[in-house]
Amino acid sequence: MKLLVVGGAGYVGSTSVERFVEAGHEVTIFDNLSSGHRAAVPRGARLVIGDIADGSRLAAALDGVDAVLHCAARSLVGESMADPGLYYRVNVAGGVSLLESMRAAGVTRLVYSSTAAVYGEPRRVPIAEADRTQPINPYGETKLAFEGAMRWFSAAHDFRAISLRYFNVAGATEMNGEDHDPETHLVPLVLRVAAGEATHVQIFGQDYPTPDGTCIRDFIHVRDLASAHLLALDATGEADPSLEVYNLGSAAGFSVREVVEAARRVTGRAIPARVVKRRTGDPPVLVASSRRARRELGWAPAHSTLEQMVSDAWAWREAHPNGYADAPSDGTGPVAGARVAAGAR
Ligand code: UDP
Repeated sequence: MKLLVVGGAGYVGSTSVERFVEAGHEVTIFDNLSSGHRAAVPRGARLVIGDIADGSRLAAALDGVDAVLHCAARSLVGESMADPGLYYRVNVAGGVSLLESMRAAGVTRLVYSSTAAVYGEPRRVPIAEADRTQPINPYGETKLAFEGAMRWFSAAHDFRAISLRYFNVAGATEMNGEDHDPETHLVPLVLRVAAGEATHVQIFGQDYPTPDGTCIRDFIHVRDLASAHLLALDATGEADPSLEVYNLGSAAGFSVREVVEAARRVTGRAIPARVVKRRTGDPPVLVASSRRARRELGWAPAHSTLEQMVSDAWAWREAHPNGYADAPSDGTGPVAGARVAAGAR
């Protein structure tokens, strides 16, 4: 297939592109590099630098494309609370711009990298797809709003769309890993302490109603997410016009303390931890049921043990101590062979 991966220079996007290229697909990445990295563009993929709000650039990138994976979004809860306008602009208005450009180009197959934040505070866990969606922050609200737009485009314009909802992503491939600025996620912060870049990990609350008192989260390996994206892209080829929603998760979850302990085992470092007060808006347990994805997409996570996720993230860190910062900025990065499209800024 000829695929366009919007937001393909980010953490989830770039690892998915690696998988698509391996599977023999022809991949173009469309990314404004606002949080993605030029050096994350895998060998064999083409990069077009552009913004999803830029209809003419999108139109050119969509020429001849069979299907689109949309991973371009702002994704920090705290930032969304402080600046909701940014989230509506990028996640909703930007997304609708993509849908309109797809419609104009006659491209109707779409997979969306969504979030389980659309559920808000779940009434029960594991969460199923039909459970109530009631986001508690602009991040979840804007992702859900875009799912709504996908649904109506499916009805009006025969889109075959799939939305994948998941919580926490961890791990790395050899080439690509997690490098955010600022970093707010648990696994990379814990590994920063292991690397001696911070003195201790803060554990946000140990008085939750869970076995060890810390929050439980559903982590999936970024490689398993990449496989899910590929299966979903294939599935849009067979489906009738519709929006289908699938949760991706481990169904069990790991506690914050378990993550810290796994990192101590994997790295052999002490990793001091201090319990501090709860972070606002953190529900005690967030775990999704992925039964539907397993049954209908044939997805089976193969790398999502805590040990594997933490050790792959650690290996990537060890190989890239400064993340992507050390990569040359000539468009080849550490991945000689990645191509930057002519005309890209
Ligand atoms: N967390 C923590 N210390 C940190 C960062 C996160 O205790 O320095 C906790 C956080 O409260 C949550 C879990 O780790 O319970 C996962 O948080 P993260 O920000 O990685 O992802 P989220 O679940 O918010 O998407």
